[in-house]
Amino acid sequence: MDEDILDCLIIGGGPAGLTAAIYLARFHLDIMVVDAGKSRASWIPCSHNHAGFPDGISGKELLQRMRDQACKYGAKIETEFVTKLERDAKTGLFTATWGSGCATARSVLLATGVTNRRPPMDEELHDDALARGLVRYCPICDGYEVTDKRVGVIGSDSHGVAEALFIRSYTADVTLVAPDKALRLSSEDQQKLKDAAIECVDGPAQAVALTGDCIVVDTAEGHYTFDSIYPALGSDTHTQLAEMVGADLSNDSCIKVDTHQRTSVARLYAAGDVVIGLDQISHAMGEGGVAATTIRNDLCAKKPRWREPVTNLVDAEDGT
Ligand SMILES: Cc1cc2nc3c(=O)[nH]c(=O)nc-3n(C[C@H](O)[C@H](O)[C@H](O)COP(=O)(O)OP(=O)(O)OC[C@H]3O[C@@H](n4cnc5c(N)ncnc54)[C@H](O)[C@@H]3O)c2cc1C
Repeated sequence: MDEDILDCLIIGGGPAGLTAAIYLARFHLDIMVVDAGKSRASWIPCSHNHAGFPDGISGKELLQRMRDQACKYGAKIETEFVTKLERDAKTGLFTATWGSGCATARSVLLATGVTNRRPPMDEELHDDALARGLVRYCPICDGYEVTDKRVGVIGSDSHGVAEALFIRSYTADVTLVAPDKALRLSSEDQQKLKDAAIECVDGPAQAVALTGDCIVVDTAEGHYTFDSIYPALGSDTHTQLAEMVGADLSNDSCIKVDTHQRTSVARLYAAGDVVIGLDQISHAMGEGGVAATTIRNDLCAKKPRWREPVTNLVDAEDGT
């Protein structure tokens, strides 16, 4: 019965979850990753800021390499969406449920990420534009690629203003476009935009077409053509499973963790975009490594995992 209990169940197979899987599998622990397959990294046509890849790497390829590495050391990976997480108050064991099954584990790592809110535009058009770098979501990641280009930022609140100002250090041609209605900004924000020579355009706005290497946005003030647009519409953090077992969230609706990635619930850990911090692959991987090492040490503090001497292992294999 005990063999059916995993040492750790990792929910989410993006850079955070897969890094943890590689570490935990190499710690000789019995683990499983359950991943719904919607990693934000899979949206990256080619990342140029991920260290070690001077010519860039696509998000899909990076994920595949990490999955292969985790499986090489014995990690099991299921493509499923976990709908329920429960914790037995007496035993402290977790049970996660998904469409075709469930698993019980001594510890759980939540690496469920966030989802960016999309701008108003047809879905197929969006995906084509994303693949071609006409829609971008992360100026920290790829602002360099829009150096001296025409950029539209779709947003209206302080987040939109901050993103437009950030991108202004890559190009002098930045326009802030309100997504839904006329721009309504504080006088302080208006002054900042004026000082930076950022044009402001009222919505409603909708990206309507891709022409050549450009994207056309229809606004309340007419058509605008950009080399790239950055939606600055916020994101939704996947904290539902954490909430099901009563974990504390931070003010910005992320999962609260200590410096070792422990949540407020014993043996529940979190890493990556779902935790407050820099939403980047490097950071997600770093947190995945920290979480995995904490999980290993916490499990071993409860019950040491001494390895059998080699002779015993041979006997066991012989059945003697
Ligand atoms: C267009 C774009 C470009 C980017 N470019 C870069 C870049 O160049 N460099 C860089 O460093 N960063 C980049 N980023 C950011 C980077 O992709 C993220 O920071 C990184 O993917 C976060 O990793 P994560 O593991 O925390 O989450 P994710 O990669 O988002 O993975 C979370 C996983 O959890 C799964 N999941 C969620 N809920 C459940 C559930 N209930 N059950 C099962 N599975 C679940 C999801 O399906 C997903 O597969 C970019 C992001 C975008 C959107």
